[in-house]
Amino acid sequence: MRIVVTGAAGFLGSHLVDRLLAEGHEVIGMDNLITGNDDNIAHLADNKNFRFIDHDVTEYIYVKGKLDWVLHFACPASPIDYLKLPIKTLKVGSLGTHKTLGLAKEKGAGYLIASSSEVYGDPDVHPQKETYWGHVNTVGPRGVYDEAKRFSEAITMAYHRAHKLDTRIVRIFNSYGPRMRTGDGRVVPTFIYQALRGEPLTVFGDGTQTRSFCWVGDTVDGIYRLMLSDYCDPVNIGNPREMTVNDFAKKILKLTGSSSRIEYRELPVNDPKVRQPDISLAKEKLGWEPKTSLEDGLKKTIDYYRSILK
Ligand code: UDP
Repeated sequence: MRIVVTGAAGFLGSHLVDRLLAEGHEVIGMDNLITGNDDNIAHLADNKNFRFIDHDVTEYIYVKGKLDWVLHFACPASPIDYLKLPIKTLKVGSLGTHKTLGLAKEKGAGYLIASSSEVYGDPDVHPQKETYWGHVNTVGPRGVYDEAKRFSEAITMAYHRAHKLDTRIVRIFNSYGPRMRTGDGRVVPTFIYQALRGEPLTVFGDGTQTRSFCWVGDTVDGIYRLMLSDYCDPVNIGNPREMTVNDFAKKILKLTGSSSRIEYRELPVNDPKVRQPDISLAKEKLGWEPKTSLEDGLKKTIDYYRSILK
């Protein structure tokens, strides 16, 4: 198939492109490189099935020829990125989703939107099922990302209903692996980077908040299966193994063999207190569940950061 991936130079986008190429598809990757990094796709420079277009998808998108799928993954994705780029975050989720939906409609292609566990906000239902409507502070600093993703879902369903577009919505939970920017502020690259450099690990708040971390290869496999399915309502993709940020910091210290201290910092505003996906729907509809243990995934990720920090 011939597939457009927006956000192709980002962490998730680039891993998704690798998988699509490995499955024999032709991929047109788009990115404006504001948070993406062309190093993430440098290995594809000579791949005849891959083409990169440096484009801001909030502007009109022109692609020549037929398309089978449009996968919209462009968006600043770490809290410090979307706090630094609040308007760009809202624009790529609203105008960017509109433009990419328009492209899919024009080409008669399928459409998949990368949504997020952030649509559940700071959840008062735990674990989170797709039927939960969420608890988001629209005007808080995280609202720019959360509401952009919620709008993306709404307009995607509107195109599905009004234009009969064949659509998919994936709600992605915390995922990790190689190619996350060390400076992106997310907990996985930050703790690994700090541990490898012997710097203190910065735990926000008292560290009792929880997250559930999914190896990027598993996340991408769930997304690919969803694309190939015929299921149009939102599906959670994530790893249900939940842990506190304190325990996660200890795990990183153990796996890196680091003697870094743990230092406590102020908790960011509206930081969700708990997060864990209920993945029964993905199991039932896609036959998917994560396969990689946290330890194995983190070891591979730590090896990657050791190699780039040399
Ligand atoms: N966090 C932390 N120290 C850091 C970065 C993040 O304690 O240096 C915490 C953050 O407050 C949150 C969790 O780790 O509770 C996950 O943060 P991340 O930015 O990775 O993603 P989020 O799940 O909040 O979108």
